[in-house]
Amino acid sequence: MNPNIPRRGFLKSTAVAGAGTAIARYGRLASVLGAGVAPQIATAAATKPAVLGGTPAHQGGFPAWPVYDEREESALREVLRSGNWFRGSGQKVAQFEEAYAKLIGAKHCIATANGTSALHASLSGLEVGPGDEVVIAPYTFIATLNVVLLNYALPIFADTDPESFEVDGRKIGAAITERTAAIIPVHLGGNPADLDTILEVAGRRKIPVIEDACQAWMAEWRGRKVGSLGKTGCFSFQASKNLNAGEGGAVLTNDDELAEKIYAFHNNNRARRVTGYNFSYRGTRGANLRLTEWQGAMLLAQLTRLEPQSRTREQNAQYLTAQLRQIPGILPAKMYPGCTRNAYHLYMFRFKAAEFGGGMSRANFLKALSAEGVPCSPGYTPLNKEAFVKAAVASKAYQRIYPAKLLADWEARNRCPANDKLCDEAVWFTQPMLLGTRKDMDDIVTAVRKISAHASQLTSA
Ligand SMILES: *Cc1c(COP(=O)(O)O)cnc(C)c1O
Repeated sequence: MNPNIPRRGFLKSTAVAGAGTAIARYGRLASVLGAGVAPQIATAAATKPAVLGGTPAHQGGFPAWPVYDEREESALREVLRSGNWFRGSGQKVAQFEEAYAKLIGAKHCIATANGTSALHASLSGLEVGPGDEVVIAPYTFIATLNVVLLNYALPIFADTDPESFEVDGRKIGAAITERTAAIIPVHLGGNPADLDTILEVAGRRKIPVIEDACQAWMAEWRGRKVGSLGKTGCFSFQASKNLNAGEGGAVLTNDDELAEKIYAFHNNNRARRVTGYNFSYRGTRGANLRLTEWQGAMLLAQLTRLEPQSRTREQNAQYLTAQLRQIPGILPAKMYPGCTRNAYHLYMFRFKAAEFGGGMSRANFLKALSAEGVPCSPGYTPLNKEAFVKAAVASKAYQRIYPAKLLADWEARNRCPANDKLCDEAVWFTQPMLLGTRKDMDDIVTAVRKISAHASQLTSA
């Protein structure tokens, strides 16, 4: 008998269900609960799932996001009263750039209006444009792709390593051609992509790497912060992100010349360290992608919370992984050996229906988990198969720029079967949930164990 199931709970279920059924049910419970399960989790997991009318495993929600107090209020009041509301007049954006470059360990930081514009400015700074190919990860937020299409470059998707949810570094070499002008790996969910493999293949072929670190503030690869290892690293400070100013972004680079080009691009071709009305231009193309002083002040305030919040997320995520990996069919995202810190923008795992058992689908699992008071999401759909991407590549502009044969072969080059499968199996929790208590994490584990124990009853829930 499993010593972790209290005898009283066992007797109670025996009395209700009759010995035969109870023993059959207990056999199932014992196998899914396994050894080493905390007694309170084992007891709660034996109760009826919420989707069948039981009490939800978790009550009261998870921590609210955004997090702010007097620090943010006084920062915004200071900007208001100064009358310096844009970076040309105030110092908040410049102060943030200096602090963030130092924190991430890069020589230069150029703050931008958002993460999309950070990626856009990187591609422009590197002069990636029509006729070029850019190798990107297919398991990502749409912005990674959009900036490639904005520059009329041809996106080439390298398949995902489903174990890590990150682009498979070993697949990048085969995606490279003489047209490849940049590689954009994404540290999706805050989990660093395999930078050893990616930087090695890129270095060998002399192709710049733009790290999409828009979900990976404070994540580390071999002790160095991600976003400082590629030619550029791009960050987002959008409202859902771990560092939040409503909207905002940054490009980091160690390359002096590139930093000047990116600065000028984001400031309508006007060079750095020029104040007032300066109409001497540099660069080729430009736009206004500047961050405001409001956002600079917000980011300086929010930055004081980043390390303690990152630590809480990391501790909770590590605890969740230790617990959830014991449940058959639940596979938390793997980290590569070079990962020394995960930023956990998302908590990601795969739901393997066959191993979870009971004939339960992911859709039913998500529904049952939500009913337990645990918000969850199926995550991204395959970007490379989106109709709009095919339409963009088939558009008049692309037909003018690229040889017909190249476009005709594009779809076949962009099959990502591992990514397709991952999109059918993924489950996400969002980062504010990881700011919760140990009890919140135990409730998540209880909820999953409860569903696991009753999987065969939940196939049509
Ligand atoms: C959020 C995000 C972006 C874009 O950032 P915005 O600030 O929303 O423009 C780009 N890539 C990834 C992976 C992201 O998560």
